[in-house]
Amino acid sequence: MTDFSHLIREANLIDGQWVAADDGGTIDVTNPADGTVIARVPNSGATETQRAINSAHTAFPEYAAMPLSERVALMRRLHDAILDNHEAMAAMLTAEQGKPLSEARGEVASSAAYVLWFAEEARRTNGAIIPAPIPGRKLLTTRHPVGVVAAITPWNFPSSMLGRKLGPALAAGCTTIVKPASATPLSGLVWGHLAEQCGFPRGTVNVLTGSARLIGGEITSNPKVAKITFTGSTAIGKQLLAEAASTVKRMSMELGGNAPFIVFDDADLEKAVAGAIIAKFRNAGQTCICTNRLYVQSGIYDRFASAFSKAVSDLKVAPGNEEGAEQGPLIDAAALEKISDFVADAKAKGGEVITGGAPHSRGGLFYQPTVIADATADMRFSTEEIFGPIAPLYRFDTEDEAINAANDTDYGLAAYAYTRDIGRVFRLQDRLEYGLIGINEVLIVSPEIPFGGLKESGLGKEGSWQGIDDYLDTKFMCIGGI
Ligand code: ADP
Repeated sequence: MTDFSHLIREANLIDGQWVAADDGGTIDVTNPADGTVIARVPNSGATETQRAINSAHTAFPEYAAMPLSERVALMRRLHDAILDNHEAMAAMLTAEQGKPLSEARGEVASSAAYVLWFAEEARRTNGAIIPAPIPGRKLLTTRHPVGVVAAITPWNFPSSMLGRKLGPALAAGCTTIVKPASATPLSGLVWGHLAEQCGFPRGTVNVLTGSARLIGGEITSNPKVAKITFTGSTAIGKQLLAEAASTVKRMSMELGGNAPFIVFDDADLEKAVAGAIIAKFRNAGQTCICTNRLYVQSGIYDRFASAFSKAVSDLKVAPGNEEGAEQGPLIDAAALEKISDFVADAKAKGGEVITGGAPHSRGGLFYQPTVIADATADMRFSTEEIFGPIAPLYRFDTEDEAINAANDTDYGLAAYAYTRDIGRVFRLQDRLEYGLIGINEVLIVSPEIPFGGLKESGLGKEGSWQGIDDYLDTKFMCIGGI
């Protein structure tokens, strides 16, 4: 595997210095495929966070005032630097996160693509001239970076989530503090290294690892932080929203999902099976847009169940860096236990395991890709996010029934459906309460689209023309006496 040791940073980047935690404490970073320790990163707390915030706050006025062409040039350099290190960053990502190398390569490419997209969008943060209702006046709006942005990122996409957060923040002229997830800090720290190498001014990118509670507590209460952008669980998102209320921070939240995948009788069976495999088993099921519930219409149910379970049992379960690996290990022991509990719960309530259903013979954190037929609404995974390789199949008869079941959740991130009926496609668009809808397609995310959830799946959009909006404040000015 490609050597990535030159990209490992085992220190915080605060105010342009690579420093240890104040008390010298560290956190082990392990490879989930074999449990080996691959690095040790600082176990920081509130005081280090305060220094990082001060650094970003001090750097802000100058960075915000940097000529746009220079800022765009920095962003383009960052994009190029990511691609120059593509293979090593992908290898590092697989080593700390576990996903197959092919997926890691895709994620790193996506990180670069977001940076480039926002470099381009930086030139289009237009204001407006508003027709005045009263003669002798000019009304105009201008856009300004919000200030210091804190990004808190999860372990499942530790690289591309920074493309979506640092990308728009830096493009808009904000300065930043990044807190990567403790399980996958290396793919976050490397952004500090690359930003430094590309010439981003001291204090514009600070990265620190450590206690989520202590770092998070300082971020949410410190009045110098203007905005928090978070990707993670709905439970932690709600906590951050509550904690940040006292300083009225701008909040962007990408939270959990419970994606339905609906297969109608008129679907192209082969394409539906191929789509379901990707939508379910990508990153071992550990993405917020992974399908959680597969609703299959009665007329196609048996054929779909048999073709799908055959395809699932053919998936190659292996360490992410092994040739042809399609499903890697889960992230940690708690995840494995949660998956086992879901399967036991489903079996107790009448679910039939038709493929998998047990830890994989490779041992460790590997679990068999699993299909459970005859799933019902009272099973835990009908309402809870699975975040693992279990695919429950629910049988339905009518379109209404499928849509109602699909919407019967507090989440509203992604939904998928396979059908050839054009009228139905538009009915689904109207009625599915989801921010992202894939029809006959599951690979639907790219920098051009507004990624974001409805209901308890989040606030705000990442990517698209909207993705930079959340990092800008609008000022209005009325000029009279003309
Ligand atoms: P997951 O369940 O996918 O790990 P979490 O919501 O627990 O998602 O974690 C997402 C990110 O939020 C991680 O970086 C984690 O360290 C961080 N986090 C967890 N708890 C807190 C907290 N109390 N304050 C701030 N950040 C937190």
